[in-house]
Order: sequence, then structure tokens, then C-alpha cells
Amino acid sequence: MLKVEPIPAFQDNYIWAIHDGHSAAIVDPGEAAPVERFLAERGLALGAIVITHHHGDHQGGVADLLAAHPNGPDGAPMPVVGPAGERIGGRTQAVREGDTVALRHPALTLRVLDVPGHTAGHVAFVADKGETDGPALFCGDTMFASGCGRLFEGTPAQMLDSLDKFAALPGETRVYCAHEYTRSNVKFARAVEPANAALAAWSARVDALREAGEPTLPTTVAHERAVNPFLRSREPSVRQAVQAQGGSTADDASAFGALRAWKDSFR
Ligand code: ZN
Ligand code: FE
Repeated sequence: MLKVEPIPAFQDNYIWAIHDGHSAAIVDPGEAAPVERFLAERGLALGAIVITHHHGDHQGGVADLLAAHPNGPDGAPMPVVGPAGERIGGRTQAVREGDTVALRHPALTLRVLDVPGHTAGHVAFVADKGETDGPALFCGDTMFASGCGRLFEGTPAQMLDSLDKFAALPGETRVYCAHEYTRSNVKFARAVEPANAALAAWSARVDALREAGEPTLPTTVAHERAVNPFLRSREPSVRQAVQAQGGSTADDASAFGALRAWKDSFR
């Protein structure tokens, strides 16, 4: 069974390591130094690099990692998997929805989803049951615990469609998001749905975890369906809150767009 562990980077990024005790696939290494420390501490070889989107805090460490580890444990050039629609330095395998990625070190199969919205070519990776300890989703900056990414390059309709793909995954799917934004996301979510009891309980748990210096991730798909306003934008409670802010709920994409715009200006 593969293990998934966070490597904290910058202020609030998580680089995720998927490993078998010998070699690790590293998801979104925005910087190399914390990855190198993690590998050295655990005696792991770098086996693959997996990138969700082109932003610097997700691929900025690739060049340094490749300089230090040009080849994988089997001597073949280091695999660098990234979205076909974006500029990813050092990429060896360009992927889009429908592709599967078969890594050998560690042995891991990832399914690719196209999830435009935060960036135009953003992809997410799904490890189905049996690959890790239950199914897993590596979603980059598309979804966060109780929130979603900003729409830098995509439309509300695209982001809604991307999040719908996540919501349709098995509820037990563990979700490995790329930032620790949970506390501020929960604050907004509670403004949207003050009567959501699951959200109130989660808020207390998030405070306790953060005060103990612990990550609030991974979350799960089932949990996000219950507490994440961006997965709940069709719920009457969320629609009413959007309307009370003066947002249009004429159709699903408008309601989602109004909710995202509200979050953008929420303090
Ligand atoms: Zn980003
Ligand atoms: Fe990011």
C-alpha cells in the first residue's frame, strides 16, 4: 500500500509525496529544497514528478529536482507528467482527460481529469481504490477544503463542471489539495450557510487542528459535499444566500459565478 504525505512549502502550500518506502512520486513541487529534505529524511529515491498546472508555486522546483535527479531509480530519464495544455518545464509526458499514467517507482496508476477554471489547462489525478489507502484525488488549486481556486483563466461554467467531476467521485475519496486555506474558507462557508450543522462542527475541528499546527488535509469527497459551498451551489440555502448578496441565480453557472465573486471580496 502506498503512503501519501504532505511536504509543507512556502507559506501555505502542500507538495504531496506518494511513496512505497523506497521511491516517491512528488506532486506539484513548487520548490526543491523541502522535497530534498523529505527524501533524505526518509531514505527515499525520487521516482516521478507530477504537475497539475503551470503556476510557479506548483512547478518552480522541477528544474532543481531534475538537475539533482536526472534519472529515476531504474536509470531511465525522470518522468515529469503534466497537463498537455500548459507550458511545463522538463515535461516528459503530456496528459489530458482520459489518459492514464503508469508510474513504476512507485508502482502507481493515475487517471487524468481535465479541470479548467483556475487555469485553462489544469488537470487533476485520481488514484483508484487499491493504489493508495483508498481512492485519492490530487486536485492542485481546483478545490480546497471548504473552498475552490480563484478563476484566473477560466469561466464559472468551466469551474462548476470541474468541481462536479470531483463531487461525482466515490465519497471516501481522500482529497489532497495544494494549499492550507481551510480556515479562511470555513469562515466564508459559514457566512454562506450559517445553519449548516456539519460545517459548524468542522469549523471547530479546523480551529483545533490549526492551533496544534496540524494540516486540515486530506479532506474527503463526502465531507466536501457536506460543507463546501462551491460543491453546494445548487442547494436552496446557498442560492438564497447568493440572492441576498444581490447575485444572480438565473442558472447554475451564474449562481456559481456570483458565489465565487462574493468569496473574492469577502474579508
Ligand atoms: Zn495555482
Ligand atoms: Fe497554488
